[in-house]
Amino acid sequence: MERLFQIAIDGPAAAGKSTVAKIVAKTMGFVYIDTGAMYRSLTFKALKKGTDLKSGLKLKRLLDDTEIVLKHNEDGQRVFVDGEDVSERIRYPDVTAQVSLVSSFGEVRTEMVRRQRKLAEHSNVVMDGRDIGTHVLPGAQVKIFLKASVEERANRRFKEEEQKGLHPSIQALREAIALRDKKDMERAVSPLVKSADAIELDTTSLSIDEVVDQILKIAEEKIRH
Ligand code: C5P
Repeated sequence: MERLFQIAIDGPAAAGKSTVAKIVAKTMGFVYIDTGAMYRSLTFKALKKGTDLKSGLKLKRLLDDTEIVLKHNEDGQRVFVDGEDVSERIRYPDVTAQVSLVSSFGEVRTEMVRRQRKLAEHSNVVMDGRDIGTHVLPGAQVKIFLKASVEERANRRFKEEEQKGLHPSIQALREAIALRDKKDMERAVSPLVKSADAIELDTTSLSIDEVVDQILKIAEEKIRH
């Protein structure tokens, strides 16, 4: 069997990973896997059930009893937890504020990584997250590390929220993004770090199309050789 092609996209919060990963996947006919949505799904369920968020063991037990399904259709990705569509709910501030704690436990990560690798077993994939190039798919042919200044990331989030009819404080967004980055970079298990063989793209002054074009060029180059 021919070897499957894998594109790993990592980087800090709100750097545009999922936006570009979705377009790259669609253009190349690959499956898009949003690993952040999986950690968010578990966080949502733990909040709903009142699970102790400081206990890795209890969270792992809860995860063992949780079905997380990523479905793809014309409108993009939908996320289901035990059959319930939680696509919007998992982006709410209560989930965002706790997801870095939930994802910090080794027990939780081992099971998530097992599921993520399984999803990539039979398809060419674009997978985005924090530890994809370093840990989940270390053999990925293309590894991208997307970054952008905190200011720019907060501005992008602000515009997204405004489009949803919300009016967040830009200062609060900036602080929440910086705090999540800090937690993701400082955790003991698979912290957010650029893989030595990843190509770093600073998207601060690039449009979505420009970032997508660069990734497609890198991928096409790899496929040819
Ligand atoms: O990508 P997104 O911002 O939705 O990810 C939410 C959170 O899930 C991250 O801040 C991080 O704590 C966690 N995460 C992770 N490893 C991944 C993907 C996400 O720890 N591969």
